[in-house]
Order: sequence, then structure tokens, then C-alpha cells
Amino acid sequence: LPEDLFRNQGIERKNSMGANLANDNELRVLAEQLNAAFENAGKHGWRAAPLVPGAMVTTPAANVANPADRRQIVGQWQPADAGAVEKALQNAVAAQPAWDRTPAASRATILEYAADLLQARMPGFMALCVKEAGKTIPDSVAEVREAVDFLRYYAAQARASFGAPEKLPGPTGESNELQLHGRGVFVCISPWNFPLAIFLGQVGAALAAGNSVIAKPAEQTNLIGHAAVKLLHEAGVPENVLQFVPGDGAIVGAALTRDPRVAGVAFTGSTDTARAINRALAGRESGPIATLIAETGGQNAFIADSSALPEQLVKDAIGSAFTSAGQRCSAARVLFVQDDIADKVMTMLAGAMDELRIGDPALLSTDVGPVIDDDALKILEDHAARMAAEARLIRQAPTSEAASHGSFFAPRAWELQSLDQLHREVFGPALHVIRWKAEQLDQVIDAINATGYGLTLGVHSRIDETIERIAARVKVGNVYVNRNQIGAVVGVQPFGGQGLSGTGPKAGGPHYLPRFATEKTVTVNT
Ligand code: GLU
Repeated sequence: LPEDLFRNQGIERKNSMGANLANDNELRVLAEQLNAAFENAGKHGWRAAPLVPGAMVTTPAANVANPADRRQIVGQWQPADAGAVEKALQNAVAAQPAWDRTPAASRATILEYAADLLQARMPGFMALCVKEAGKTIPDSVAEVREAVDFLRYYAAQARASFGAPEKLPGPTGESNELQLHGRGVFVCISPWNFPLAIFLGQVGAALAAGNSVIAKPAEQTNLIGHAAVKLLHEAGVPENVLQFVPGDGAIVGAALTRDPRVAGVAFTGSTDTARAINRALAGRESGPIATLIAETGGQNAFIADSSALPEQLVKDAIGSAFTSAGQRCSAARVLFVQDDIADKVMTMLAGAMDELRIGDPALLSTDVGPVIDDDALKILEDHAARMAAEARLIRQAPTSEAASHGSFFAPRAWELQSLDQLHREVFGPALHVIRWKAEQLDQVIDAINATGYGLTLGVHSRIDETIERIAARVKVGNVYVNRNQIGAVVGVQPFGGQGLSGTGPKAGGPHYLPRFATEKTVTVNT
């Protein structure tokens, strides 16, 4: 891989709370540019509509509200109708063979050009992330940079492994080579929590591998998905090869995943939806046996023993649980603290939570922005009501007046008796703390494994044996030791889980791209 591939990833990225801030000055400039981009968009209005050549879509447009202030309408989006879905499938089937025959190096060049364009237009994309997805400014910087990294990483991989077929031995007087090709039509269903990075990661990988792509973004982040697809078209991806088909998952997503013309689906979102997609693909009576690449939720734990440094532990626990308003699959949900240091850690945690600033994500001073919408807020409030009856509140972070018009949930931490009190993943700024005694370490590991999820795990310990024991036994995809447990870096920390947390392969890892491909062995009698 080229050496400058990771030029986006300064050391600061690793030191921050999952965000990759260059420095205060650069951030201030970006924040000003972001606001200018928003003002400018306000004049013309952000819009998202299906991008399906030959389809006339007449469905009514719906307003997009800012999650931080629902009174502010930031754009309109128009869902695809059944005619557009059908036309998109026809276009995708027709366009795929020529795209697959396009040299991998040319596909890679297009993706790299898209990465350059994205980097050059960072403030405009950041403005979309702040206003449509409620992302803070540091999160928006990280979002755009991760999207750029995904495009460059998959482009480099396509060049390396799709461009030059593997030559195999020919002991029988034959020449043998192993080629990689696109599978056909890939449907990419992306989440609202990484509306640009995961969206472009899925789409970029599917395109790099030679598939035609139908991109269906989460219903909450159509404006960002639309802008990303326009960018790829501008970079040179043909409009029939990449189409944008927004809509309700239960209607548009379901119509796409039950269609026999679809060869594969890349999905990031809830475990329940992944199961539904899997059933839809498996229930088709014709068409290929489809591939599903799913990255789903987690019930992520963070284990700290009494050798942990409380100050660092609290900083990393806060960063892991509350960055991005806790709306990361990787976020820490349960902190297991050894009882010798538990009181001290909980006191420090409460003090640190008092310092969090919750409010408008467009302000540089904001630590925690809104959750994505009122449905997400309701689930969190119901959870808080249940916790009020069953758990001890360690702290609720203060909210400001500015938060009263948006979908804000003040970060909270509760002390629980056991992991059984959490029935499912709580997707937001909610941390749960459980004490454990030295002799209970294996029970803690067993309890974590028994959830069936297996995405991230944080460990804070200065005892090598303990670290090794935990890392060896716990069934998760990403283990982070003596740091926070979010913010996987493309090509550096391949990301993805096991069990209820996903099918693999890991995004931003060396085995991701081949899963989008089919292999062909060509043997020639020489
Ligand atoms: N890759 C992200 C991280 O490491 C999480 C992705 C997700 O939430 O789906 O924090």
C-alpha cells in the first residue's frame, strides 16, 4: 500500500476522544467554513432525491429537521417509489459487466479522485454532518477523514489484488491464474451514525470490486448520502453503476433485498434488521445465493482492574461512552471496575460528567450533541425510567437551555448489580458500571461472552497476565488496552465484530474487499 495512504491520520487522532483534531486553530477555521457552507446551502437548500437514470419520481418531498433544533429545516428529501426501485435494478444489472471489465486501476483512480474532492470540500460535508446528523465539529472532521481513508484504502487494495490476477503453479503444462470479479448488483444499506464514512466505505468497496451499486442510506441521513453519491458521479463513476435509492427500510430496503437480481448486501445497523435482511435474501426462490456483509450492534464492556490508573480510566471511559452522544456501535456500555478502586472511580466519573457540555453541535465548545431523532430519545428515556427503578444513578450530566428544542439526552451513568439488568443494546450516552472482586474475573468474562454480542472490549490494567487472559478469552472483534475503545482507524484497526455483532469481514481491513468479489480460476493448456 502506498506510504502516504494514511496521511490523514496524525498522532492527534489517537490521543483525542475518538476525534482527530489537527489543532485548535485548524478546527476554528473549519468551524467558520462549515458555518459559511451552511449559510450558503440555506440559500439554495439541501435536497436529496433518487438518482436513477430514466426514472420519473413524483413522490412528495419531506422536510429534514436539524436534530439539535427541530424548528430548523435544513433541507428536503424525496423517497424512491416502486418504479424507481425497479428501474434502478434494471440499470444496475445492465451496467455491471462493463464496470467489472473496466481495469481495476481505473476504478481505483476514480475512487482516489473522489477522495481528493471530498478532502477539498471538507467544510461543506462537515456542515451536512452537523446539521443533518447532529455531529459535533470534531466528530464531523473525523467523519470526513475516515470517508477519505476508506476510499483510498479500498482503491489501493483494488489496484493490488484485482489489477493483477494471482499466478498459480502450472505443474501439468498449463497456466493457471486466479482472478477476482464483482459479484453483480450490490445493495449498500448504511447507518445514520456514520452517514458519510460507513456509507462511502461500503459503496467504495463494492465499486472497487467491480459491482454495480444501489445505495440506500438510513432514512435519517438522506442529504449526506445524496451529496456523497453526487461526488462519486463527479469523480467519474457512471450514473448507472452507482444509483441512489433513498426510502423507508421497510418498503424500499425490503423491496431491494427480496429481489433475485441482487447478488449481495452490505448492511450496517441493528442486529434485528440484519436478521430480517438475511431472511429476505435466503427466502428468494431464484437468483444467486446472496452474500450478506453485516455490521451490527454491541453490548460493549470495559474491564478495569485495581492496577488501572483512575484518571486515565475515567477519561477513556467518558470518551468511549459519550463521544458521538454514545451513538457508535463501538461505544462502551458497561464498565466493570474492580471493587478496590470502584468508589474512587465512580466519584471521579461523576465529577468529570459535570464538566461535559451538552448542546448545539455547531459550537466548538460542545462535547455532546443531540441523539439522532425523537424515536431514539424516547428509547433512551424509557431506559432511564427503568434504571431509576432498578439501578443507582451515579450522575446525570447537566443540560443547557439551548438543548430544549432538540433531541437531547443528558449523558447518564448508573451502577448496576449485574449485566442481566441490561436486556439489549442501549444506543446513546448511557453508561453502566458494575463492581467485581478479584476472584470474579472469569465470571465477568463469561457474562460478557454470554450476551452473544462481540464487538469491542476495553481493558485497563497494568498486569500483563490479566490483559492476556482477558484478550484471549473474550469473544469480540476489537480489543483496546489502556486507551479508549472507539475510533478504529482504517487500515490500522480493522473494525467489526462476531456473533450478534456481525458477519465480518472487518471494515478497513485486508479481507473486506474480497468478500465483495467472486473468484474465477482460468486454466490454459499451453
Ligand atoms: N468504526 C467506529 C468506531 O470504531 C464505529 C462504527 C459504528 O458505530 O458502526 O468507533
